[in-house]
Amino acid sequence: MSEQALLRVDDIHKRFGGLTALDGVSMEVHAGRVFGLIGPNGSGKTTLFNVITGFAQPDDGQVVFDGERIDGLSPDKVSRKGLCRTFQASLNPQHMTVMENMLLAPQNQVGENILSTVLRIGRIREQEEESLDRAWDILKLVKLDHQVDTPAGSLSGGQKKLLMLGQALMLRPKLILLDEPVAGVNPRLIEDIVEVIRKLQRQGQNFLIIEHNMQVVRQLCDTIHVLDAGRVLASGATRETLQREEVLKAYLGR
Ligand code: ADP
Repeated sequence: MSEQALLRVDDIHKRFGGLTALDGVSMEVHAGRVFGLIGPNGSGKTTLFNVITGFAQPDDGQVVFDGERIDGLSPDKVSRKGLCRTFQASLNPQHMTVMENMLLAPQNQVGENILSTVLRIGRIREQEEESLDRAWDILKLVKLDHQVDTPAGSLSGGQKKLLMLGQALMLRPKLILLDEPVAGVNPRLIEDIVEVIRKLQRQGQNFLIIEHNMQVVRQLCDTIHVLDAGRVLASGATRETLQREEVLKAYLGR
């Protein structure tokens, strides 16, 4: 392939006891396009996200991001390399405000210890101000700037997803993995989320998205990979791939 992949997973295997969740998955994600990862429930999508982002270790295979092997790295190291993710459900401290959660994002992910904090104490205020400015800009972009003082627990399902996206953006990632960005979100907010992702994409942000809502997959994704029973069933341009017989069959059940 002439174009170098931003992310490449190579023959990934992952077993849980006697169950094979990923059975030799290979696929690529390229910069400049939005990629989708779809497949029926239990096909291995979340496990693959976990393997890519260091939340699970593969039994076999490689993950290469931006030309570097990242399998075996911890999640904070993976995010420092520029690969961030969101989760299906919010993991944020629910009593903390939207802004507090945004400002927590970098420190959490980078796993900064007390000593390194003390060593750069003179620069802290400057960095805080920079983070605050950045958080404001991102909150405007994800349409949460009117909710800065709202506790995360009081946000709607869709707003919680936007907050997770905002936190990922704080780290200036090269690639964001979105895990079901519109699942359980009311239709009006789905439109907002789609609009935000499109806007970010136009600004050059790369995405790989797990999503069950096919209308949203068609709206957002240029290219999809389809998983079924831990294997890649099909890959290609979204519209054509969704019409392939084996893909329709996987969704209709056997
Ligand atoms: P999807 O995200 O496509 O719904 P998952 O990756 O969640 O699929 O699951 C793939 C398979 O692996 C399923 O059979 C699931 O039950 C199993 N699985 C996922 N995580 C674990 C785990 N931590 N322990 C045991 N089995 C798991």
